[in-house]
Amino acid sequence: MLNGKTALVTGGARGIGAAICRKLASLGADIAIVDLTVTEQAQALEAEISAEYGVKAKAYACNVGDAEQCKATVKQVIADLGNVTILVNNAGITRDGLILGMKEADFDAVVNTNLKGTFNMTQACYRPFMKQKYGKIVNLGSVSGLLGTAGQANYAASKAGVMALTKVTARELASRGVTCNAIAPGFIATDMTKEISDEATQNYLASIPVGRAGQPEDVANLAAFLASPESDYITGTVIRIDGGLAIS
Ligand code: NDP
Repeated sequence: MLNGKTALVTGGARGIGAAICRKLASLGADIAIVDLTVTEQAQALEAEISAEYGVKAKAYACNVGDAEQCKATVKQVIADLGNVTILVNNAGITRDGLILGMKEADFDAVVNTNLKGTFNMTQACYRPFMKQKYGKIVNLGSVSGLLGTAGQANYAASKAGVMALTKVTARELASRGVTCNAIAPGFIATDMTKEISDEATQNYLASIPVGRAGQPEDVANLAAFLASPESDYITGTVIRIDGGLAIS
């Protein structure tokens, strides 16, 4: 379904991003795995994807919070793998704490990676997407940005921003054949949620109607749908994938 397409996945080396890389590759897309650094994990994934799915995969180092690095990375990916047609803005971090004690540096780091990073990569792909009159942008929001989870002022605000940015991007690029949608995961089992205390984890699990944590593959399936032509008439939406956690 995605043969001949090139997907750029930020935060692609582990967690949800790695599951998205595998899923898109299984559908035939060449994959650019973009992380802060090219780790051994990224190199292993690169090799695994090429061997398993017979597509091209390449790992890149890029801090998504840096606009110039994003522009240079997109340029390099196009040179190596061909026109980017799928952008998954997945890179994200947390630095949780109550507003009272939240350090300015922690607020800035989270907003810079999650929100500005999504903006930077979208901007870097904007002109190529317009020119080719095709593109699929999938942004990772969060139910935290919908609910306003206590202790996550920086994270929730950044994700609410990502979800608003999704709508703006969708409106600006719809006439150019580009869709932009956001996924809002709930509690997904990755390194990010391993940092949460046992007590808070139990509280989360107890409040999920389907009774389990989500898996990265659950999110990857939805990302693949939003990255495929099957979702061409869907743009500017935010889709929760949370086992019912944030049913309103
Ligand atoms: P992980 O912590 O497992 O992985 C985060 C990834 O982002 C890593 O590959 C990391 O690369 C990369 N990254 C971090 N900062 C940067 C940066 N400045 N530039 C480039 N890459 C960066 O996260 P998850 O897989 O759990 O989360 C993926 C996305 O899903 C995030 O946006 C997160 O906010 C969102 N989400 C996750 C939920 C969950 O329950 N897990 C719930 C809701 C949303 P490196 O290894 O080099 O540091």
